[in-house]
Amino acid sequence: MSGQQDLLRTLPAIDRVLREEPMQNFSQQLPQETLSRAVQELISSLRQEILESGKVNPPERLLPENVAAVAAQSCRELLQPSLRKVINATGTLLHTNLGRAPLSSQALRAINAVAAGYSNLEFELDSGGRGERFSHVESLLTQLTGAEAALVVNNNSGAVLLVLTALGKGREAIVSRGELVEIGGAFRIPDVMEAGGVILREVGSSNRTHLHDYQQAINENTAILLKVHTSNYRIVGFTKEVPARELLPLARENDLVLMEDLGSGLLLDLSNYGLEREPTVLEVVKAGVDVITFSGDKLLGGPQAGIIVGRADLIKRIRKHPLARALRIDKLTLAALESTLRLYQQPEQALQELPVLKMFSADPEQQKQRCQHLFERLEAEPLAAEIKLVEDISRVGGGAMPLTELSDWAVEINPLAGRTADLAKQLRTFSPAVVTRVQNDRLLVNLRAVFAEEEALLAQILIAVFKREA
Ligand SMILES: *Cc1c(COP(=O)(O)O)cnc(C)c1O
Repeated sequence: MSGQQDLLRTLPAIDRVLREEPMQNFSQQLPQETLSRAVQELISSLRQEILESGKVNPPERLLPENVAAVAAQSCRELLQPSLRKVINATGTLLHTNLGRAPLSSQALRAINAVAAGYSNLEFELDSGGRGERFSHVESLLTQLTGAEAALVVNNNSGAVLLVLTALGKGREAIVSRGELVEIGGAFRIPDVMEAGGVILREVGSSNRTHLHDYQQAINENTAILLKVHTSNYRIVGFTKEVPARELLPLARENDLVLMEDLGSGLLLDLSNYGLEREPTVLEVVKAGVDVITFSGDKLLGGPQAGIIVGRADLIKRIRKHPLARALRIDKLTLAALESTLRLYQQPEQALQELPVLKMFSADPEQQKQRCQHLFERLEAEPLAAEIKLVEDISRVGGGAMPLTELSDWAVEINPLAGRTADLAKQLRTFSPAVVTRVQNDRLLVNLRAVFAEEEALLAQILIAVFKREA
């Protein structure tokens, strides 16, 4: 078809497009090959379009200046950081995909203080000798949990792997079938055990496990009795589980390690704020559990870290294992963790200063007022959407207490034109990005995890996206 041939001939040359102003603007910021590749890819896709449909609509898209304008857009995206700030309007406080716990201003200052220069990470300032990186948080952790010793690693999955490997390799660990947890992102207790060379001995049934089930499974190769917090699901109805304190005599009689993976791990009792009553780490230590693991970035409100507390002789063995070195925590995380833990020395301060705890314990009446305020702000604008103030549910999330529901409010946006999913995407690709929930084809903007200082900006972004076309 000659029309097609003619069109193919009008495709501009790469060099011609590169000379256009929008592309010239990037010549200082991106390498020449990157600019050429952006233009080349665009021209190839236009060629494909011509070959498939015999036309390009509108034909002006083939003009060198227009090709340059589109290629420049993809160059602009290349210059944007990939990891960027998000305004979390989902109502989920600990969203693993959105980076879990936001840090306190104290933690940010601590990171700043050690990140820019040198530090005494593994150096004893008194003696001038070599120090231990764990030393900066160990006494805080033993003080806050009542444990004899503590160790921190990169994350809690790593902590579980390390403890199991160091204390149980080649031997058996007994776990209830009701606690063979899978946490999102391919962390499954049976797989972690296999990776650590520990033989899994499942006992009981999915819904009921008794003390005698553990008892009968013990043999000369048993090393560990493991309890795992069922962080992200509940077994309800006809159920029975054996709490750690009831396993303790069994562990002692048979010289076994009693280990508990708490998942989130609470340093404060939050049941006053609507959280189901869960034992704090201090209480678990008091109950006699030998080794306990939990995350730094779940309800603790700190950086990603795996915290291990327990008996001094066991922690010493764990610390010496080669995996401890492979999973070691980095200095920025350590700085943030230390300052987060310091806030817990005064519980009131932790509740005031840790963003997660502050959001979690927010006064419902105040939440309603914030939503009311946003609602009024949006109502005052000519938007192509119907706006409502509605009751909503917020969640802790992040594999930590997913069943806990916090009663809350939200602003519901029902677009008059365009698909809700497309508008949600526009919000996500805005700068800064805004992540909302889409429910029954409506957009819900929940302010539970939105910082007060983000509110005005959030309103502006919503107005920009939903404004009525003039
Ligand atoms: C979250 C969780 C883990 C994994 O912790 P990460 O910090 O995500 O590595 C392990 N076990 C339980 C019970 C958890 O809830």
